[in-house]
Amino acid sequence: MAVISVLDKAVSELIAAGEVIERPASVIKELLENAIDAGAKHITVEIKDGGTSFMRIVDDGCGMAAEDVPTAFLRHATSKIQEKADLDSILTFGFRGEALASVAAVARVTLLTKRPQDALGTSYEIAGTEFSPPEECGCPDGTTIVVKDLFFNVPARRKFMKSVTSEGNAISQIVQKIAISHPEIAFRFLRDNKVCFHSDGSGELLSVIHTVYGREFAGRLMRVDTETDDIRVWGYAVKPLYCRPNRSLQNFYVNTRSVRSRALTTALESAYENLHMVGKFPACVLFIDMQPDALDVNIHPAKAEVRFSDEKRVIDAVFFALKNAMVAEGLIYEIRLPQKDWHAGAAEPEPVQQPLLPEPPPIPVRPPVREPLPEMAFGVPKCPNVPQEEEVQWQHPMPEVTGLPPMPETSVPEIPRQELPPPAVQEEKQPLPFPDVKVIGELFANYILAQSGETFIIIDKHAAHERVIFERLRKENCQQYRQMLLTPCQVMLTMEEIGAMEENTALLERLGFIFDFENRPYVKALAAPVFFAELDIDEIVQEVAHNLYLGKVNPQAHMLDDMFHEMACKSAIRANDKNALPELQTLAECVCHDENIRHCPHGRPVMFTLSKYELEKQFRRRV
Ligand code: ADP
Ligand code: MG
Repeated sequence: MAVISVLDKAVSELIAAGEVIERPASVIKELLENAIDAGAKHITVEIKDGGTSFMRIVDDGCGMAAEDVPTAFLRHATSKIQEKADLDSILTFGFRGEALASVAAVARVTLLTKRPQDALGTSYEIAGTEFSPPEECGCPDGTTIVVKDLFFNVPARRKFMKSVTSEGNAISQIVQKIAISHPEIAFRFLRDNKVCFHSDGSGELLSVIHTVYGREFAGRLMRVDTETDDIRVWGYAVKPLYCRPNRSLQNFYVNTRSVRSRALTTALESAYENLHMVGKFPACVLFIDMQPDALDVNIHPAKAEVRFSDEKRVIDAVFFALKNAMVAEGLIYEIRLPQKDWHAGAAEPEPVQQPLLPEPPPIPVRPPVREPLPEMAFGVPKCPNVPQEEEVQWQHPMPEVTGLPPMPETSVPEIPRQELPPPAVQEEKQPLPFPDVKVIGELFANYILAQSGETFIIIDKHAAHERVIFERLRKENCQQYRQMLLTPCQVMLTMEEIGAMEENTALLERLGFIFDFENRPYVKALAAPVFFAELDIDEIVQEVAHNLYLGKVNPQAHMLDDMFHEMACKSAIRANDKNALPELQTLAECVCHDENIRHCPHGRPVMFTLSKYELEKQFRRRV
């Protein structure tokens, strides 16, 4: 008796459907993409019970002709690819003609559709393998699809669904991401009869971000827009000070399609390295526009992941764009005092001097003289009696830097021999950002006051010293701390990672490691720096190897950075320490001449500047 038989159609449909439709959110994603492809200007998404019982998508796109409706639900039915020559577009856009067939295979679907040129529309119902013939009906232009009882015929799948809340959240995320990628389409999203958001379709990216993620988030972003090497990276990324406790708001769009990509996350996080607090993550809405033939979106059945043919080039482009944005945004903060006239108008403060004797005739008392310098607390100057929003405007005094180096190849970077690290951004002979820095004194035993030309500079000595030491530790030769391991630690790595390590043995040695590559895919660490003794060396080796493979600027593992932070913090001078002027002078020069040193390793600012011009304006020497 034959033991091999072809699966019955209903079963093979279910298997195929399972690849595309994993959960309610996958239905929403596919149907939203169809509505967008249909040229809709308005799209409404409505769900109940996390999409498990009810999902409805209404669009005002091109609609379908009556005779096309049943065909659209057949597997491999698509209007988007005509012939084999179009196969390229399958690879680039991911049209596979599978979504409607897959949804109908596992749910009860009702479709209403009408093309603008037709007088009447069509209604159609399909559930699993059962469908009724399409019927004429009256309906608005566009398409409405209602999906009920998802996985009604696949109990095993139903069991795998999470709570109604988490399925609803997953849908929410998809709708948010897609709405953001199409600011020109007005989206309305309703969850259990409540409107979650409603974008206006104005075409303004920031306006959709505001609608979807809220005012506070939108207010903390910096604009990104740089084109390198045929790759344009644009959108918004959060200012380093506002990094978040998780990665949930890292949004990447490659050729407007929302994607996940380890390479893009790496590029993003490298750009923010050491600009934010430990354990925080940058957030962004970044669009990467590039030649479609340089990527493959079809490695994932739901097209959520991309693969780049030249990953490193994309990482460089994203990294560079973000660094550019940070430079333009100002990693150095210049204090601009409010334009408002404090000494006039209704906002006059209460007098502070109290009359000494009772009952004298009221004397007009002068308002207290306010100091021209705002009080600084955690980097944000506070000015008395000035409304919050207008308090201070930050301005970046540096010219636009166009010559930022891309992330270096996975080769050994030069380890500086100087006493202090040189500025990383400086290539050739560029003018120093603050020439002739001269320390003029110290304030509150913590702030170095210095002058450079017409700029007054205030430096937090602890934060600054901490960062200087941290940079030195990362760049310095750790070879001197090397210690042979009693039991060599063995780690399994990918061939690419091993290759990257072999190309960088000199760098690894300077970091204090010795490896044996004889037994691949295992790599044996024979020696490591003595101060890593308490850390998990396996994990460090894996991360260092992977970072080398990705071509990161600093291949150190996060754990190492955390440790360097700690060492730097412990050994840095502190507030109230007594420091001689020459010592402060050296520190001030280190800070002013290295544009890397603008934040302490925890992300707090290291310095502020105030221009002579600003000061003169305050004293009414200028108007
Ligand atoms: P694909 O999108 O890969 O072509 P689908 O199964 O998602 O495959 O859709 C099949 C076809 O049905 C599409 O090619 C399109 O012609 C039509 N279609 C699906 N949804 C809509 C819609 N909302 N408006 C108009 N046409 C649609
Ligand atoms: Mg589709």
